[in-house]
Amino acid sequence: MPTALWSSTYWQVALPDRPLTTAHLVIMATAPEMALGSVSAAELITAYRRTRSALWTVGGCQGFQINFAVGWSPTPGAVGEPDPLAGHDRVIHVFGRGGSDHTSPARAMALPPAERRYAASDPARTESLAAALAAPVEIDVPAPPDTECDGCAGAVLTDQERWRRDGVRVIRPHRVMIDSQVLLLPLRHVPSIGDLTPAEIVALSTELAEVREQFALASGTTGLSCFGNDGTAARQETPHVHLHVFGRSRDEQENPFALLAARLPAEEVSRAARRDGGGPPDAS
Ligand SMILES: [Zn+2]
Repeated sequence: MPTALWSSTYWQVALPDRPLTTAHLVIMATAPEMALGSVSAAELITAYRRTRSALWTVGGCQGFQINFAVGWSPTPGAVGEPDPLAGHDRVIHVFGRGGSDHTSPARAMALPPAERRYAASDPARTESLAAALAAPVEIDVPAPPDTECDGCAGAVLTDQERWRRDGVRVIRPHRVMIDSQVLLLPLRHVPSIGDLTPAEIVALSTELAEVREQFALASGTTGLSCFGNDGTAARQETPHVHLHVFGRSRDEQENPFALLAARLPAEEVSRAARRDGGGPPDAS
């Protein structure tokens, strides 16, 4: 059972049983069947901002990587994804970056689950996180310079867009690892995930469902794996919020995270087992 640290009506922030880093928290839906609406989306933003604030207050984190799945749980033994939380299928993993813990979550997850090292239990730290979640502060999440935003201009407009609706654009990345791969971004120029509006969260969620359906029709995938990088400390490279989305299925030819992991230098993955190292670039 994850340790609950903060709760609202629709969302709970918790410490997973086996955190991959000391800056690993999860945001879980209190009612998994709940349809995301403007109130629950506003609460999700609040939960996320409190989570960032707590990871900054307790661990000095200034960047955040989020991972979540839609209708998908990792195949046992597969690399690249957070360990699923038993009994919870609506979970957003948040990994603080740039703080006192230098473990790269991507490198930690590039190891098969049986070889992963988990952060040791630290009751004092857990208590500090709960206290910080209860008393959030405004934090600075440095973003890439936004003089030239390739989420607003250039190829995004001319040849990458698949469709747009309700303020969200679905695009094909420049470099794809698998066929069933897109990026979702708000039409509005907004650098940080924490500054999305409830309407944008609802629209992103609606388009994720549409992407899942399109991928299912096109290539028979059943679910989605998603990640996003918030802030330069989390290797965000484009100053415009975007989610990386991969279609997944039990009979897939290739696990996109295994392909991503294969790009990490081997010695750096093995270094993750000793709990240090940096992070992979934002794969846009
Ligand atoms: Zn932009």
